Amino acid sequence: MDTPSGFAATTAEETLDPSDWADVQILSHRIVDDAVAYLRDVRERPVWREMPGDVRDFFTASLPQSPTPLADVYGDVVERLMAYPMGNIHPRFWAWYMGSSNFTGALGDFLAAIQGSNLGGGNHAAALMDSQVVDWLKQMLGFPQSASGTLVSGGSMANIIGLTVARNAKAGVDVREYGVAAIAKPLRFYGSDQLHSCHRKAMEALGLGNRALRRIPTDAGLRIDIDALRKAIAEDRKAGFKPACVIGTAGTVNTGAVDDLQALARLAAKEDLWFHVDGCIGALIAIAPENAHRVAGIERAHSIALDPHKWLHAPFEVGCALVRDGASHRNAFAVTPEYLESTPRGLASGQWLHDYGLQTSRGFRALKVWMALKEHGIEKFGRLIDQNIAQGYILAGQIEAEPALELTAPTSINIVCFRYRGDGLAGEALKALNTEIMLRLQEEGIAALSDTTVHGQHCLRVAINNHRTRREDLDLLVRETVRLGREISRSDAALPSPLVGEGGREAAG
Ligand SMILES: *Cc1c(COP(=O)(O)O)cnc(C)c1O
Repeated sequence: MDTPSGFAATTAEETLDPSDWADVQILSHRIVDDAVAYLRDVRERPVWREMPGDVRDFFTASLPQSPTPLADVYGDVVERLMAYPMGNIHPRFWAWYMGSSNFTGALGDFLAAIQGSNLGGGNHAAALMDSQVVDWLKQMLGFPQSASGTLVSGGSMANIIGLTVARNAKAGVDVREYGVAAIAKPLRFYGSDQLHSCHRKAMEALGLGNRALRRIPTDAGLRIDIDALRKAIAEDRKAGFKPACVIGTAGTVNTGAVDDLQALARLAAKEDLWFHVDGCIGALIAIAPENAHRVAGIERAHSIALDPHKWLHAPFEVGCALVRDGASHRNAFAVTPEYLESTPRGLASGQWLHDYGLQTSRGFRALKVWMALKEHGIEKFGRLIDQNIAQGYILAGQIEAEPALELTAPTSINIVCFRYRGDGLAGEALKALNTEIMLRLQEEGIAALSDTTVHGQHCLRVAINNHRTRREDLDLLVRETVRLGREISRSDAALPSPLVGEGGREAAG
């Protein structure tokens, strides 16, 4: 036998475990104390601040060869990392679309890492918990117990899972065995022109190509135009394509528009299409008593993508794909290689959870969701969703009442699109002014918004997916937006163009 040198029978084994557990225990208590204070005091800190040069440089240091005491490692983390967060745990973070995390979820992630379990499957409690969280999500959306599902990294992956099952179910050939080239009639998928960009990536990854995804125009409320969809389907059939799947969006990323899911379910049934719902933003509205009606029909979907790291505020990452017909879900992914055969008893006697997606090893994402759901109960999560939607309408009302501001798209849930009017400005100049307002709100640490362009019109965008936001935060936003708009209009007739972040500006609380 070829024995590697450097390891003789007399060499003491090494391990990553600490040499002194008592030391680690003391440091860990300090880390927990710091973490609690960090979250407790988040409102007192700026939402975001630019990193100084020495912090940027710190992250270019080369690979560590020799050890550093853990307390020093932690010191670096506190100074260089924790001090410069993205900011989405802050009550005035409303950029893009994110959840704002929660402490219990963080404990869940910690404990999951301590246990170190791999949720590829097997016969152990974490695997049962993973399945239980999927079952709970099915119940939240009114999906039958016979449906299947899987926890994934996020909504993009959840959509890919749903669309893969759709493609395979509608291909008319065994795509897994023969590939997309064997599909007789090219498949067509449909969604609105407000569809999230992950669907394009999905079409590319599925080998169908971006052009197989038809973007259907939207109505004044930015919902898919059902008549236009019907016409597109008929056109495609005539031209020799096979209409395969319609993607409804429950909460578009631009404006929060919710497609008419009942109408889409009816049309899909009539046209024999797979009905997938991208519910990354809005699927969970189903648990919100005052607003659940907005997503009625979601329970009729063949597959749904949703995002517990958005409106359940689970720490990143956790998304979920649900598929009504559990068999078609499993058939799209299950493979049993010789090294993963089940046994009648023991560790390998559990279900293989990797049979429902692309990953083999899977992180233990369920615990952070499970603990927070148990602690608060689902009713509270429902009320928090109602609260964010109410805040969306409150902010929209404040903007309408403020002459210096205007709404640029209808508010339907918790996303508000608006702009500073800017006397006599239009087009690029107006965009530059609003972009500058957005950047100063970020750089002064006041609020994090993002911007977008809806049907050619640039606007600022506030997405209130945040359980820490209060009405006073919205008041502040309106006040500060108007102040900055006036200041910028007064001080610089000529705005920087193209706009570049100035960096290094002092952050204020
Ligand atoms: C966030 C979002 C996605 C993507 O989800 P991730 O969790 O970011 O991968 C897809 N669709 C919509 C509508 C979204 O808002």
